[in-house]
Amino acid sequence: MNRKRTLRFVIPALSVAFLEACSGGSKATNSPDVQAAGKPSAAPVLSVPATVNVYEGLTATFLMPSATVGAGRSASWSMSGLDAARFQIDPATGALSFRQAPDTAKPADADAHNDYDIVVQVSDGQRSTQAPLKVQVLAWNDGGAAGLPLPLAAREVARPAGTTGQPGLRVLDWAGFKAAMSYTFDDSQPSQIDHYPELKAQRVRVTYYINPVANWYPNFDATWKDAVAQGSEIGNHTTHHCRAAELTDNDPNTCPQGLGSAGAEFDDTSDYIRTKIGQSGVWTSAYPFGDMDYKPAATSRFMVARGVWPGMVAPGTGSDLMNLPLAQVPGAATADGHPVSAFNTAVDTALGQGKWMIYLFHTLVPTTQNWGGAESIAAVTGNMAYAKSSGTMWIDSVVNIGAYWRGQQLLQAATPATLGGVTTWTWTLPPNFPSGRKLRVVVNGGTLTQNGTPLSWNARGYYEVSLDAQSLSWTQ
Ligand SMILES: [Zn+2]
Repeated sequence: MNRKRTLRFVIPALSVAFLEACSGGSKATNSPDVQAAGKPSAAPVLSVPATVNVYEGLTATFLMPSATVGAGRSASWSMSGLDAARFQIDPATGALSFRQAPDTAKPADADAHNDYDIVVQVSDGQRSTQAPLKVQVLAWNDGGAAGLPLPLAAREVARPAGTTGQPGLRVLDWAGFKAAMSYTFDDSQPSQIDHYPELKAQRVRVTYYINPVANWYPNFDATWKDAVAQGSEIGNHTTHHCRAAELTDNDPNTCPQGLGSAGAEFDDTSDYIRTKIGQSGVWTSAYPFGDMDYKPAATSRFMVARGVWPGMVAPGTGSDLMNLPLAQVPGAATADGHPVSAFNTAVDTALGQGKWMIYLFHTLVPTTQNWGGAESIAAVTGNMAYAKSSGTMWIDSVVNIGAYWRGQQLLQAATPATLGGVTTWTWTLPPNFPSGRKLRVVVNGGTLTQNGTPLSWNARGYYEVSLDAQSLSWTQ
């Protein structure tokens, strides 16, 4: 009597298939990790991009890879590779994040190029599939002064393909981030110059509202030149920091050196910023003492101006563009200012409300030049690190966020005209508006074009529209 043979299916030890990940280029490799008895199941199908760009400082999940596994099976995730120790992956969901916030100044990847190599693996308990992934870490000021940062997109977003016959155009608030924030520093104070290296090390674009009369302090021009080179903005805070009424009161005891008008004060400072600091234009201002008597002069000279009233800016509409408010820091301040936790709470509030928050800083301590309103440099930089960690806060200069906010208003206010199946929006850029700016938009489906060229879909979830073109067309 013959022994009954047990059929045992043996899967080849080497890979059985290569799958091109749908998201572009990564080679997923299927290989068995368990010898399966009986009929083989299909290997999990894994979708991982070849490369993903993330910003330094991020600790939130930056990628949710997806996998298809056989019916009745569940995926379990793991990883390997050269730089795997720097990351954590959720075994149940595949959610991938850094263990510690990456810092482009201190690369922690094996070859110290800020491009981390890992291999993502998913198993269904019988068979597994793996794919290499390169995580490229970008500096927060990547792309120069006007570069829009990339919103976090843990999953790729499919190009909308609806056929409603209506474009359904909408502009993403805050370039696709949940909220926006600007750090502004007034009066070009000595303590800001002395603490500039710590601010620079955060590599976020900020706005320094300067008074050229303060240029007696060492490294004044050099500091602001370097800030421009880092992508930050130098804004106009007038040359002599007087009250506007004092400029015209003919009283030699008030603002003795002041120029003859609010406009002359602004123009002198803008000239300084262009010629001595080398910034190509000056688009935003902040009022000395929050003095609104400067407003008429600012309106004809700047895209937006910052006041000092408490509040935040909603996307699209509402706020006075010539009197942007200041975000409030909760709780009492000591001689060293507020703790970082208070600043972080304000960031959470802005994220919760989806608004643009603007911080104003004066003196940064420790310093021998305390001009009042002190906050600690450690709290400021600690708050920057906190804002970066979520990946959902757009941190940028007033001109950059202001141009997006104004641009959104322009496009939303444009009434589309439809002719021969083509819907077209047109707008006119206002005076004092910076060039080279973009908006991020979505539509229900169809094709968007500018100057006859179709716009390409970004898998983070948007089309990018050039504001300079002043026209946008759509066809089904
Ligand atoms: Zn001031």
